[in-house]
Amino acid sequence: MDAPLDRINYLKDEINKSNYKYYVEENPYLSDFEYDKMFAELKELEEKYPLLKSPDSPTQRVGSVSEKFFPYRHKYRLYSLDNTYNSDELKKWYERVQKECGENIDLVCELKIDGLAIALTYEKGIFVRGVTRGDGITGEDITNNLKTVKAIPLKLFEPVDVEVRGEIYMPKTSFEKLNEENLAKGEKVFANPRNAASGSIRQLDSTITAKRDLSIFVYSSVFEKVPNAPKTHYDGMMYLKNLGFKINPNIRLCKNIEEAIDYCSEWETKRTALDYATDGVVIKVNNLSCQEDLGYTSRAPKWATAFKFPPEEAATKLLDIELNIGKSGAVTPVAILEPVQLAGSTVQRASLHNFDEIKRLDVRIGDTVLIKKAAEIIPKVIKVMDSPEHESLPVFVVPDKCPACDSLLVTRPGEVNLYCENTDCSQQSVAKIEFWVSKDAMDIEYIGPSIIQQLYENRFISNAVDLYRLSMQDFMQLEGVKEKSASNMYNSIQNSKTRPLNRLLTAFAIRHIGKETAELLAEKFSSLDDIINADVCSIEQIDGVGTKMAESVYEFFHNKNNLHMIEDLKNLGVNPVSNVIKKSDILDGKIFVLTGTLRNMTRDKASEIIKQLGGKTSSSVSKNTSYVVAGENPGSKLDKAQNLGVIILSENDFLDIIKEYL
Ligand code: NAD
Repeated sequence: MDAPLDRINYLKDEINKSNYKYYVEENPYLSDFEYDKMFAELKELEEKYPLLKSPDSPTQRVGSVSEKFFPYRHKYRLYSLDNTYNSDELKKWYERVQKECGENIDLVCELKIDGLAIALTYEKGIFVRGVTRGDGITGEDITNNLKTVKAIPLKLFEPVDVEVRGEIYMPKTSFEKLNEENLAKGEKVFANPRNAASGSIRQLDSTITAKRDLSIFVYSSVFEKVPNAPKTHYDGMMYLKNLGFKINPNIRLCKNIEEAIDYCSEWETKRTALDYATDGVVIKVNNLSCQEDLGYTSRAPKWATAFKFPPEEAATKLLDIELNIGKSGAVTPVAILEPVQLAGSTVQRASLHNFDEIKRLDVRIGDTVLIKKAAEIIPKVIKVMDSPEHESLPVFVVPDKCPACDSLLVTRPGEVNLYCENTDCSQQSVAKIEFWVSKDAMDIEYIGPSIIQQLYENRFISNAVDLYRLSMQDFMQLEGVKEKSASNMYNSIQNSKTRPLNRLLTAFAIRHIGKETAELLAEKFSSLDDIINADVCSIEQIDGVGTKMAESVYEFFHNKNNLHMIEDLKNLGVNPVSNVIKKSDILDGKIFVLTGTLRNMTRDKASEIIKQLGGKTSSSVSKNTSYVVAGENPGSKLDKAQNLGVIILSENDFLDIIKEYL
């Protein structure tokens, strides 16, 4: 355990170094969560040992200024915000506010836009100057660059003198596009939309800034000589809107801290659907005279606080790079990580995509890497953090042999992956069986990866067909398997014999044919024999099936080994039922989107019923959607449906429509 002074000095050093990387070089080496954790620890130590607190501590200062542009001393100081990841802390903050200002204190909640803070000065309604926040006292004069941002009005609707503060940001889609273009040109790739916005607005050449898609949300103002100036923050925001400024539409007036906490939880999930990055919620006291009473600390207002969302990015150590052989033989590198908390779960593995990506990122075992989790997507490594050790670590060598079977790996034309082409490769075989039993394919409950591994290692099975040869007794020989679970496993395999044709086609894992295309095939051909006898032309005629896919299907069903496997399956009683037995056409032409958890059936089952009644399901809401069926905890699709005016059905409404056909 470090002595408090040593720890304080260490934290101060680390935070100052990170500030420089973040604000000046726009190339952070810590995740925001890690940074905030160190900052909170330093604040706590300084509160506990006040004598060890020095005026140069980062807890007493705001941001940092670079020397890239002309410095400009702000007329009114700009501040940072105190923040927390914890709703109990928000309650404590509200109690402090109540102590100073009284019981019923209205609050305003706004999304905390993750961009770059700036101050814009207008004289008699004309834009005269734009300056970055910098250290809050001095910023950088970037007026010319800001003039290229279309959402910044050059002339207001009223000739007022005002200084407004706002956040310059880059929409997520433009950020992805910019990175793709830069990657293709071999130029700098930004770690996140915030860095991209900051890097773009702080270009020395304004013509470059003009080419970047930047925008702004304005979130506060200081008026001079305005008669009847607004008395509350909320009214002030509406006034800014009327003057021609872009304010964020998701601003909400709340009666108390509980309503504000509800707003925070609501946006914790909804934010992923937004096209701009937000890292939290800013909660502000609404009444401006209360704000004045509360005042400021040396770096932040006491009348506002930020609730930060759990991190979607985290930095951790790369312990190893494991090679995974997939069902197609593709070899993909997987990052094995020192366990780290990310968006509410512990992450130990992350995707590295392919070997080109390892080369592009220059990832080396032993590096500290930044990982990111987007909604419902496996975390991925997005960046190597700068460190002095990096250069001394050995460069990762792309393998030339399959780690499981030692066959030479090959590339396929037009693809970045490396492949193991040995169809007897043990890892590939296991991956194929795992896919066969998966939810999207034959949906065989009770047979998971560890059972498959045991069955394979004990030579009970060498491929998916062998599953149908297993007896109850075979399962009983596996470690830890008792009669009840053996019977569950056995029965679930038997039950899968009559799965619909589309599932069997998916389970075959034919190249280029995923779940959706398998459905199209099963709609057109009513049996396996029909598909076996089809020529490329008739397969290609299906709407949504291209030449490459048609050729791949044809090849699969004209391969001797595959035909042999199909024969074996038939002999073992695997007899897929024809797909869509249409029961009615009451939903003809109707497009459904399912969201949230349904209590009475799985979403797959609901889709099947919709199809049997002539309708279709889609995974995203658009103006063509006829109905959205919303189960429990619906996602952002529900909001989109509301915005587009699409009819929303509860699960009960939906059951009422379909009940007589069940
Ligand atoms: P901050 O970004 O946490 O909060 C203050 C800023 O929020 C304001 O200056 C303003 O620009 C912005 N903001 C966005 N929407 C707002 C709204 N609706 N109302 C009011 N303000 C709004 O504070 P900061 O001082 O800019 O930066 C500190 C934070 O930056 C840290 O908490 C950390 O997350 C990050 N940081 C990270 C590193 C790193 O190495 N990863 C280094 C330095 C800072």
